[in-house]
Amino acid sequence: MSALEDPTDEHLEITPPKTWAAGLPAVAHALQYSLSQTSPRRTMLTLLNVNQAKGVDCPGCAWPEAAPGKRHMNEYCENGAKHINDEATSHRVRREFFEQHTVDELGRKSDYWLNQQGRLTEPMVKRPGAEHYEPISWDDAIALMADELRALDSPDEALFYTSGRVGNEAAFLLQLFARAYGTNNLPDCSNMCHESSGSAMTETLGVGKGTVSLDDIHEADLIFVVGQNPGTNHPRMLTALEETKRNGGSVVAVNTLPEAGLMRFKNPQKARGVVGRGTVIADQFLHIRAGGDLALFQALNLLLLEAEDAAPGTVLDHDFIREHSTGFQEFAEQARKTSWDDVLTATGLTREEIEQVHERVLAAKSVIVCWAMGVTQQKHGVPTIREIVNFLMLRGNLGRPGAGACPVRGHSNVQGDRTMGIWEKMPQSFLDSLGREFGFTPPAKHGHDSVNAIRAMRDGEAKFFLGVAGNFIRATPDSDVTEQAMRRCRLTAHISTKLNRSHTVCGDTALILPTLGRSDRDMQAGGEQFVTVEDSMSMVHASRGKLAPASPDLLSEVAIISRLARATLGGTPEIGWEEFEADYGTVRDRISRVVPGFEDFNRRVAEPGGFQLPNPVNAMTFRTPSGKAVFTRNDFEMPRAPKGHLILQSLRSHDQWNTIPYAMDDRYRGIRGGRRVVMVNPEDIEDLGLTETQMVDLVSIWTDGSERRAESFRLVPYPTSRGSAAAYYPETNVLVPLDSVADVSNCPTSKAVVVRLEAASWAG
Ligand code: SF4
Repeated sequence: MSALEDPTDEHLEITPPKTWAAGLPAVAHALQYSLSQTSPRRTMLTLLNVNQAKGVDCPGCAWPEAAPGKRHMNEYCENGAKHINDEATSHRVRREFFEQHTVDELGRKSDYWLNQQGRLTEPMVKRPGAEHYEPISWDDAIALMADELRALDSPDEALFYTSGRVGNEAAFLLQLFARAYGTNNLPDCSNMCHESSGSAMTETLGVGKGTVSLDDIHEADLIFVVGQNPGTNHPRMLTALEETKRNGGSVVAVNTLPEAGLMRFKNPQKARGVVGRGTVIADQFLHIRAGGDLALFQALNLLLLEAEDAAPGTVLDHDFIREHSTGFQEFAEQARKTSWDDVLTATGLTREEIEQVHERVLAAKSVIVCWAMGVTQQKHGVPTIREIVNFLMLRGNLGRPGAGACPVRGHSNVQGDRTMGIWEKMPQSFLDSLGREFGFTPPAKHGHDSVNAIRAMRDGEAKFFLGVAGNFIRATPDSDVTEQAMRRCRLTAHISTKLNRSHTVCGDTALILPTLGRSDRDMQAGGEQFVTVEDSMSMVHASRGKLAPASPDLLSEVAIISRLARATLGGTPEIGWEEFEADYGTVRDRISRVVPGFEDFNRRVAEPGGFQLPNPVNAMTFRTPSGKAVFTRNDFEMPRAPKGHLILQSLRSHDQWNTIPYAMDDRYRGIRGGRRVVMVNPEDIEDLGLTETQMVDLVSIWTDGSERRAESFRLVPYPTSRGSAAAYYPETNVLVPLDSVADVSNCPTSKAVVVRLEAASWAG
């Protein structure tokens, strides 16, 4: 039993899942949570400011805003409102708090409890052997880290982790510092979510990002939403899909669960959403088996080839295939071998359902495929996305209005951080440009991604960990191994706004470095500053906090990184760390000379709404070795579970932001008052000889023979597809071994966990 959770679930209530999302309950819940965190005045200030042209970018997710002038005065969703006010909370964690609680004691608290304590207010240190954190000055904290970094045998013994909350300026400086120090060890949260998208798209299209804009979503004839739960994870995507529908487009949802947001949306900003029945989102719902998406797109591609055979010259986009692609013949040869038996087994769908989708595809002039972690965190996530790209290319659904590929990112600036160079294997062209601008030679050797960073700590090869935002310990797989790895470090440090579990898993010395939130005003020597972010559709824009900072002792991320860099490396005329801290415009000037697409950055980002980065695919430019888009051959694959086992996916509850639950509820799924639940199809429960609502242990089994156990979950009958089960992250991270990663991308396979359910040792 994890020490993090209460094993009793006496408050657990199960009701039928909702069949629609948002509406007035969303408004009520957003306000209720906001007012539990801060005053009505601060709540209003944040809400009127969030996602406005001169306001603060919602840190909730990476979904884009409408163009300035088209924005609603309430341009946010329930989760965005909760998240911004969770950050703007009036609760504070002061030094007395750390006197009252030992680190061990904090380590036994739940993620929910830790977050609810409020904003961090001053730097704290836990010294070797100490039981408590104690205050430390900023100068001493920075010196401690710099001394440790200088004492390492090699720069590669240091790890610099970034989470997607970090703005472009801080991200650029962090990677500059790491590389000037001598390492490419820049793991990030993207390694654990959309790395499979980046790998597959870079190989096939020459760019690791989505190719569509918000206007494309509105204009599309047909949108696929695959392995994605927009109602919870990017709620304003529902507003966009509603517009697609009103413009005559249709939506096919592909999921193992009939998520409320995929079914029907009641837009609380429209009268029809408040008093009416709302808008049906999915015209067709494919209740697919976990990991069946590759087979689905292989079948759709086979059907397209056969339709072309039947009516030559009418189905495929021969101009696109001839002029802009390579590998079509090899792909087609492979695609024609697709076995319907395999497809139906892998998907759990009927052939009629797939043929119905095929008819929709034939009728659509423009198609977009959106996807998220239901696809990327499969062992065969990369081939699945390659097959999606094949599907789009067959009918030339790239580079024209209403068409394209749309990996939907979860964290607000996760895409921007990658653009800024947060990647352990940035292309040599970027490193050369960085080196030229700043007068040094960046290391060429690839660094560690997140999984390899854990391995390096586990094996004693990495001894210094700096986390800039995020909650590394709870975002990563194999919780026990990861915690042991982190504890082997000589120094761990986290730049954070609020307390989280990562602060309780300490190296010999541990630092908590409290920083400004997005909603905080950022005053520096050069005056009031703003930061910039890039959303899921490559729009780059400014974000300005308006609230008085949570404490006078906070530093911005830019300031902390600049001071640490200066203390570690000393001053160099080429890298003006003091200047960067004083005026973030000077950082943007340097970005504009290093990062393609950011020319004249300061002027362009001053425009309301910012600017869109060019996507070469939309100009029919493919930065692949051949200069063309690449059709790929992808072998049939599916997750396989032995008899008596299920494929478990981890997922978030609706009342959760990344690793942090904001309540013990999951409103849309009808689960309240507890999180140790596992959702299983009632027929599977019967076949397994189990009883609905009994307590079970989840035991994951792996091909190497190893097993992992998460104890005491309430079995909830739920309309998951047959053979598929679902339970919450991060509680089930413990079930995913560090070595279970997606092919090519190294992304943890959190959506493909083979489990058996055993009657719990604790019966409840
Ligand atoms: S959709 Fe995402 S970015 Fe937009 S308000 Fe909601 S959580 Fe924030």
